[in-house]
Amino acid sequence: MLKRIDLRRDYLRHKEEYLAAIQAVCEETAFSGGKFADQFDLEFARYCQVPYAAGVNNGTTALHCAMMALGIGAGDEVIVPANTYIATAWGVTYTGAVPVFVDCTEDTWEIDPDKIEEKITDRTRAIIGVHLYGQPFEFNRVKDIADRHGLYVVEDCAQAHGATYEGRLAGSLGELGCFSFYPGKNLYAFGEGGSVTCHNKAYYDKITTIKNQGCQVRYYHDIIGYNYRLEGIQGAVLSVGLKYLPEWTARRREIGRRYLSEINNPLLTMQAHPENTDPVFHLFVITTKDPDDFIAYMEAKGMECNKHYPVPCHLQKAYEGLGYQAGDCPNAEYLAAHCVTLPLFPEMTDEETRMVIQACNAYSYTIQGKQR
Ligand SMILES: *Cc1c(COP(=O)(O)O)cnc(C)c1O
Repeated sequence: MLKRIDLRRDYLRHKEEYLAAIQAVCEETAFSGGKFADQFDLEFARYCQVPYAAGVNNGTTALHCAMMALGIGAGDEVIVPANTYIATAWGVTYTGAVPVFVDCTEDTWEIDPDKIEEKITDRTRAIIGVHLYGQPFEFNRVKDIADRHGLYVVEDCAQAHGATYEGRLAGSLGELGCFSFYPGKNLYAFGEGGSVTCHNKAYYDKITTIKNQGCQVRYYHDIIGYNYRLEGIQGAVLSVGLKYLPEWTARRREIGRRYLSEINNPLLTMQAHPENTDPVFHLFVITTKDPDDFIAYMEAKGMECNKHYPVPCHLQKAYEGLGYQAGDCPNAEYLAAHCVTLPLFPEMTDEETRMVIQACNAYSYTIQGKQR
């Protein structure tokens, strides 16, 4: 069975290096924050071409920190795409502010700049754009709208390590960039991890204080803080991964580009990738009339697929209280009802890539994977 993603292959390939990195942390007992986490912050900032990166314990807290760094709180609204992983909205909700969901476009499946302005009120403070599936959102248009209304733009880069928009890296475009290193993300920890990137030292100082119990001098707590520190072992593992990230990204792009050019079944629709972007194919999502049928068909052929994401944010039960209804974000709802994610990860072989392409092209509508 070809898995949708198989992390074990990377672990086995670089096992010695990973275990040596973990051992080095143990030798120095630098377990929480500390030398290895700090070293990774420097390397990751350099990678993203920004002066600052603050490592945190996951991508969700990265988003929470970004909102807090901007002073967003109760009474505020933040624009968030309806088509994203739910954690984009959690960061807003944790501060007491309200996420306001905006539909995605029909073809890129990213936040639709044409639908942002109608959602802006005098409470709106920021727009979080998500580079979903590794495809940069239309940053310049979002930024223009934000500038006209005096709003911040925050990037959710959890799926977009190394992606570029007009030659500029994800995480270097907006006021703050929020990354996740959850296992399976393009750069991943052996557990949980995240980072917030920025150009502004004041944000960096605020985030490093917040994530460290609100203190800069030990046991003197100047603001209400959190324990959001990155673990030393994760920092060390991430430094190993970061060395290979350019190679992984090149391979993801190679496979992604092959899917785009070689899958030509009219029953399957692919995401649009505008010319001014270079996506990193975190997830290769397609839409099809009957996703469960397609998933069963692929499974019968030995290939695992899944769905990102079956319910759009505005219709999640947790946000019932916000009063959204089916029909409010039709493109995001269509996507949720029709999406399938194909296997794609850097260690996939050419033969496996060919197998996926061939199966996709041979697909005709079946009943739960069984040919009629
Ligand atoms: C993974 C992800 C997050 C959350 O990151 P965690 O590290 O899992 O907390 C946020 N936003 C998006 C778009 C993600 O894919």
